[in-house]
Amino acid sequence: MTLTVLNPATEEPIAELEQAGVEEADEAVARARAAYPAWRAVAPADRARLLRRLAGLVEEHAEELARIESENVGKPIAGARGEVGMVSQVFHFYAGAVDKHFGETIPAAGGAALTFREPLGVVGLIVPWNFPLNIASWKLAPALAVGNTAVLKPAELTPLSAMRLAELVLEAGIPEGVVNVLVGKGSVVGQRLVEHPDVAKIGFTGSTEVGRLVMKGAAETIKRVTLELGGKSANVIFEDADLERAAAAAPYAVFDNAGQDCCARSRVLVQKSVYDRFLDRFVDATRRVKVGDPADESTEMGPLISAEHREKVGSYVDGVSSAFRGEVPESAGFWFPCTIVEATNDYRVAREEVFGPVAAVIPFEDEADAIRIANDTPYGLSGSIWTRDGARALRVARAIDAGVLSVNANTSVRVQTPFGGFKQSGFGRELGMHALDGYSEVKSVFVSTEG
Ligand code: NAD
Repeated sequence: MTLTVLNPATEEPIAELEQAGVEEADEAVARARAAYPAWRAVAPADRARLLRRLAGLVEEHAEELARIESENVGKPIAGARGEVGMVSQVFHFYAGAVDKHFGETIPAAGGAALTFREPLGVVGLIVPWNFPLNIASWKLAPALAVGNTAVLKPAELTPLSAMRLAELVLEAGIPEGVVNVLVGKGSVVGQRLVEHPDVAKIGFTGSTEVGRLVMKGAAETIKRVTLELGGKSANVIFEDADLERAAAAAPYAVFDNAGQDCCARSRVLVQKSVYDRFLDRFVDATRRVKVGDPADESTEMGPLISAEHREKVGSYVDGVSSAFRGEVPESAGFWFPCTIVEATNDYRVAREEVFGPVAAVIPFEDEADAIRIANDTPYGLSGSIWTRDGARALRVARAIDAGVLSVNANTSVRVQTPFGGFKQSGFGRELGMHALDGYSEVKSVFVSTEG
């Protein structure tokens, strides 16, 4: 079966691809399995050198990769360049980490107790469509650094950057079979990877709904899983915050990537005493977000990924009066305007992950109320706290059940810091040295010194 890949900003086809089925998935796993013994035996310094070469090739081809990603996802080109920059940093970081992820010696009577960090074998990496190359690199780089081989399954809608990366992997000198990219349906090849007895682990990023299926499917073979799932993060604005800065930054915390971001701060919690002042400024700042052609250097927000997704996003605001609704181009493309609604935490738009450019502004009374509302969600991925009171910032950061928080900023992702969720946002950590734990097993070996 062929797969037609569209440019979401024009609705025009940009590629026709053959889709893999179960048989091709099995072949990819077999190739990865065959490549594993030699890859895990590569000397650490050599494995690091190969990853560093790949990082260099990503840098060299940065503009090409950014254009592929921008066309396929509808991302503004400036943002796509930043993402590709991160991809090369990720490979550089894990090249440097290859020989810094080591075991311990533990006091034990009668000998020496040692631990080793062993690779798992073949890992299945399943990636969503919102940050295709970035998220692929977060999984691939630590997996390879530890000595695993991989089958990488990009999302059906956005396979093009992963396919190009696979070519650069070979150009870097990483042997055939170490990285295998499989283009196909999640319900077919994704599920096959989850069930395959020769796949030791699934690194999954996607919706909580599919994450549940992955976890269930993995149970049969006691497969390891890392699940990076959905979110409904809070951007908490206290009355003592720098309101100008908080309001100027808030649009990008939810409308970036057209809201198709698991870390989107789509619940904007504002203390009642400054609610009106903040809302005015937030609306003003949102009015200035530049929506349009992703290839234009100054564009800040592009279209949604598909017609089907646009329909889903629209269902959250149908019949709900909005405080602001922006403008979108009239040309073809899956456009959706920046939308701000005033809500309580009980509204559907505040409870479910919209995954589009829709912000729900919710008032709160005091610190305890803010924490209660922030935590009143099944998700726990990300969030922000805006206050000038340092003690409060730390108190609230400790009290919010989420994996990644920022104070007086809206960033979630850094190459060197752990990233992942609490509650139904998943478990396991990507990025930083923590990611290496998810792609290795600890082995304990006791060596007797007696006799
Ligand atoms: P999705 O769950 O529909 O698909 C994710 C991937 O899983 C795709 O590659 C898809 O083909 C595959 N898949 C689908 N069905 C499968 C099955 N039965 N078995 C195995 N694989 C299957 O998600 P999406 O729509 O591509 O992405 C959006 C979602 O991803 C949002 O919920 C978002 O919050 C989440 N996300 C989370 C993070 C994070 O790090 N927490 C990052 C980005 C996106």
